[in-house]
Amino acid sequence: MHNIEHIYIDGTFVTPQGQDVADLFAPSTGEKIGQVRLGNVADTHAAIAAAKRAFPAMSRTSKEERIAMLLSLRDAVSARTEDMAAAMTEEYGAPHYFTTFSVARTATAFEEMAKTVDTYPFRRTMGRAEVSMEPLGVVAAITPWNSNFGFICSKLATAIAAGSTIVIKPSEMSAIQTQVLTEALHSAGLPSGVFNIVNGYGHVVGAELSRHPDIAKISFTGSTATGRAILTAAADTFKRVTLELGGKGPQLLLDDVDLDQAIPKIAMAGFNNSGQACVAGTRILAPESRYDEVASRLKAFVDTLKVGDSRAEEVQIGPMVSEKQWERVQSYIRLGIQEGASLLVGGEGRPEGLERGWFVQPTIFTGVSNDMRIAREEIFGPVLCLLSYRDEEEAVAIANDTDYGLQSYVYATDQERAKRVAGQLETGRVVINGAPHEPLAPFGGFKHSGIGREFGTFGLDAFMEPRAVLS
Ligand code: NAD
Repeated sequence: MHNIEHIYIDGTFVTPQGQDVADLFAPSTGEKIGQVRLGNVADTHAAIAAAKRAFPAMSRTSKEERIAMLLSLRDAVSARTEDMAAAMTEEYGAPHYFTTFSVARTATAFEEMAKTVDTYPFRRTMGRAEVSMEPLGVVAAITPWNSNFGFICSKLATAIAAGSTIVIKPSEMSAIQTQVLTEALHSAGLPSGVFNIVNGYGHVVGAELSRHPDIAKISFTGSTATGRAILTAAADTFKRVTLELGGKGPQLLLDDVDLDQAIPKIAMAGFNNSGQACVAGTRILAPESRYDEVASRLKAFVDTLKVGDSRAEEVQIGPMVSEKQWERVQSYIRLGIQEGASLLVGGEGRPEGLERGWFVQPTIFTGVSNDMRIAREEIFGPVLCLLSYRDEEEAVAIANDTDYGLQSYVYATDQERAKRVAGQLETGRVVINGAPHEPLAPFGGFKHSGIGREFGTFGLDAFMEPRAVLS
């Protein structure tokens, strides 16, 4: 059993003043594997006060000092790779391929930000003005369970690069992963108070961070509903916000698509991280002329997918993170049937042979129209919609007919045509033919998928305030 008894404030592991305790579960078995003692409002205040005390010195650090801190954080997390992967597999149940990517990104987040700082123009001349980019003050990061290491580290890296201090509130469902990561970050030996990590409920610790006058900025990743609550709470004190929210990504298959190459990419972009990914491509748009072919090839591919306990490396789809999430996904499968869509593959209930754990059958609906709720709402599980379109213009219109705008996908043999279509899509990122992640490019959403961008210089800009001096 894991008993997580401490939070991290002012460079020290401390027992929270909060008395609430939350249970922790292994999604692959549904069994309880531990408990976490949660911080409360008083703990939040202590963390904010520590970050505030550390801010003046941190804000005066040189570029070289910040780069040195970032590289020591990189080395510190690299030394705990195996423990981090083990915690992520046990507590989250993410498939091996995603755990490997996520743990590696934990270290590279610091390295990429060190490169960004190195060339970042903190001082610029604009006309007659001397412009300096100033750190905002104490930043709060609020992160979700679906990529605990990655989001904590990318936000922490950006705060350090900017010369800010930070209070981090991870998901209360990721406490075992957070414990391993905090130990690693602590071993980097940064000055006390530069980063503080408080486990706690969103409506307690997260809400207090969102309204506290000493927090200058919130960097949030999570659901659109919570993002809206944070934006409202932050308004009183005019906090700067970066909101990375949900998605309902379209995958556009143009009529010259090479399905031999594309089908595995399309399916896995939809079922990315067992469907628990904000960037999942959950609406597959096929040309009418090739709809049946796409459907039968997708079905054949999904029939080969290995669903199960993610300790087995060959597993491609792991469990949902919690019973609540499992119930939610089941309710959307029922809803799809009620709305009149047809099951191409999958359906309600657990996959055959998996009697325990929060496993879902990878499911694809055909006969879906874009006004059905299964095509409009983020399900956050391995449930995809296959829609048809008549021509390119209609494909783009369906792709853009959504409140979300995080990441879309285009598949075509003609690369120039794919780029022309990409240029019409209202999403923060467009991935052509399964191109790999680019950590230096901005990441974030149009419309209800968020406000602002993370990563690279766009991410760093969002942690800074320009001051123009005219003489
Ligand atoms: P969530 O919104 O329920 O929780 C995210 C975080 O916010 C948690 O730490 C939670 O405790 C906290 N929180 C909850 N209520 C709060 C409140 N009132 N005030 C302040 N904080 C509060 O999201 P989740 O279920 O943990 O994560 C899944 C969601 O995150 C999905 O919608 C997914 O699309 C989104 N997501 C977005 C991105 C992105 O980069 N755009 C990446 C990953 C996940």
